[in-house]
Amino acid sequence: MVLLLQRGGVRRILQHFYSGNQGNTKRLLPAADGAAGRRGNSTAVPDVRERTLIAVKPDGVQRRLVGKIMQRFEQRGFKLVGLKMLQVSDDLLSQHYCELRTKPFYPSLLQYMTSGPVVAMVWEGHKVVQTSRKMVGHTNPAEAQAGTVRGDFSFHVSRNVIHASDSPEGAQREIQLWFHRKELLNWECCDQAITCEL
Ligand code: UDP
Ligand code: MG
Repeated sequence: MVLLLQRGGVRRILQHFYSGNQGNTKRLLPAADGAAGRRGNSTAVPDVRERTLIAVKPDGVQRRLVGKIMQRFEQRGFKLVGLKMLQVSDDLLSQHYCELRTKPFYPSLLQYMTSGPVVAMVWEGHKVVQTSRKMVGHTNPAEAQAGTVRGDFSFHVSRNVIHASDSPEGAQREIQLWFHRKELLNWECCDQAITCEL
């Protein structure tokens, strides 16, 4: 089974089942590198491999919201490519929130973010940065819409449950800060033919 997965066996099986549609299929996956590249098919959409950093903050972990939050990203069709639980250091946080150092809430933000473990994730997919910001909702949960993570699970800006990168550039910076390269996996979803090739 492992061999089958490694050699793209699942993809071939799916392609067999969906072969009727393949002729009209426009692939979203770039032929840049990794498994997608090896297929040799061209793509018109460059950002299907976009990545973002999502972190369930200490209050979210304490309230056992990790599973519910991850499920939202899975259901949306994004691909998990990195995941870890960590006690965040002051050093990491000061780099992560470097733009907020002069804000009056900065000391309490550091205290909050180091008050317990955080679950950090990297999700991948088409326009994942923009979409996940919408899924996460307004910074201040009092203004966040119902249906967003913050709108459903929090009520105060100082305990807003989740972090999401706010731009592709910011995401790249944050992912490098939180994850080693080798902690991020390039892997092929077995439903890729359905979710990534339109
Ligand atoms: N924050 C706070 N008080 C504020 C504004 C922000 O405690 O008045 C915290 C909050 O946890 C927020 C984080 O600082 O998520 C980072 O702020 P930013 O403006 O980057 O919001 P985000 O990108 O998280 O929506
Ligand atoms: Mg921010």
